[in-house]
Amino acid sequence: MSPDEFRAHGHELVEWIARYLETVRDRPVLPEVTPGEVIDALPVQGPEKGEPFSQILEDFNEAILPGSTLWNHPRFFSYFAVSATPPSMLAEFLSAALNQNGILWKSGPALTELEQVVLGWIREWVGLPEEFFGIIYDTASISTLHALIAARQSVDQKTRKDGAARNLVVYTSNQAHSSVEKGALALGFGEENIRKIECDAEFRLSIPALKAALEEDVKEGKIPCCIVPTIGATPTASIDPVAAVIPLARQYGCWVHVDAAYAGPAALLEEKQWMFQDWELADSIVLNPHKWMLVNVDASILFIRRKDQLSDAIGLTPEYLRTQSDPRMLNYMDYSISLGRRFRALKLWMTLRYYGREGVAGTIRSHIGMADWLREQIEADPRFEVAAPVHLGLVCFRMKDSNEKNQQLMDTLNTSGFAFLSHTIQNGQYVLRFSVGNWMTTKEDVEETWERIRKVASAL
Ligand code: PLP
Repeated sequence: MSPDEFRAHGHELVEWIARYLETVRDRPVLPEVTPGEVIDALPVQGPEKGEPFSQILEDFNEAILPGSTLWNHPRFFSYFAVSATPPSMLAEFLSAALNQNGILWKSGPALTELEQVVLGWIREWVGLPEEFFGIIYDTASISTLHALIAARQSVDQKTRKDGAARNLVVYTSNQAHSSVEKGALALGFGEENIRKIECDAEFRLSIPALKAALEEDVKEGKIPCCIVPTIGATPTASIDPVAAVIPLARQYGCWVHVDAAYAGPAALLEEKQWMFQDWELADSIVLNPHKWMLVNVDASILFIRRKDQLSDAIGLTPEYLRTQSDPRMLNYMDYSISLGRRFRALKLWMTLRYYGREGVAGTIRSHIGMADWLREQIEADPRFEVAAPVHLGLVCFRMKDSNEKNQQLMDTLNTSGFAFLSHTIQNGQYVLRFSVGNWMTTKEDVEETWERIRKVASAL
């Protein structure tokens, strides 16, 4: 593709995206496709000869777009906040053009240093001290996996040589994201050594139950390794008491990893500081800019106090990657399982510069405001009830009716294409999750969706 052809197709694509942004409200959030339909619409074999880009774009419109769930839609209310803002899209475009791979400082000096600069901004904005080293991975699952690697290294330095010990225990709550358990499974902790501690009535990790589990394990000769509290747990966005977890962890000599993948960006807000009490005393924290910091998937940040625990556990430099060293030279490969590293810092830098701290905080605040408004409406309608405290952008609610009726309510709304909600089961009850978090969402989007929910409820 010549530069002139690229220019023409590039303009066409930018026009496509602008049009998408202008018309997205008229599109269904969930596609009307059946499993296998996209596969059947596409040729089984790859093209022998190259095809014109215009033809490819046409097929994208006809076969791919209609089969896409529109995460970047103002009425995408199902999973946690997702926003692909225009500056982040443009930054990804540029990043693809440079095709940086930040294995080492030498393989991407600007990538490596911009990542440090932009994570320094975020660290300061969310109120964490300078000791925290920041690194970007693709997802929170991978950030947490790395935190667990460091946690294990910190309590058992023999792992690298001898393999994993069989008696190290990981503690989290029964509301924690599955990535904690998955990470522990992948690292060989073993199901027997993963404790999913019960929660209190507000779905927060129960400290007495945690204490009892720690005591019991020590009595049985096990070694507490890592406690993972969550600020903004996936089912109901509950807030675990990190401040109460820290002294217990210190008493038992274990690592604290805070999963703030969703709620972490809310640390920008003065009025939400109570949720983050003492999180700066944790050993590591994950927060996802691709959830609530206006950048597109993927971008997850791990802040970790002792990056040496990571390099001690998994640092490995083959001869062909050896370079001269310099005190200011950081090689991210020393702290990561994956060698290759995309230039994700660029979209963070461009997006955060475009909106500024105030812009990001204002967007998060407006989402929380809309969620609060919805909570009030639910409380005012006797047919419904709020199912969990609303502190962030997530509202959990249900019709005061059977689980089947609640599921029907959600399915009817979702198949209409107008909005997309998800669900959780809490205490045996089917609960609907309405998560406000897209950068385009307006109060009208929330109002109209609530109106439709009420209508469907009446029809049911
Ligand atoms: N932690 C929490 C609290 C989450 O809600 C999620 C996903 O929604 C994750 C971790 C996993 O995030 P990722 O998809 O980035 O791995």
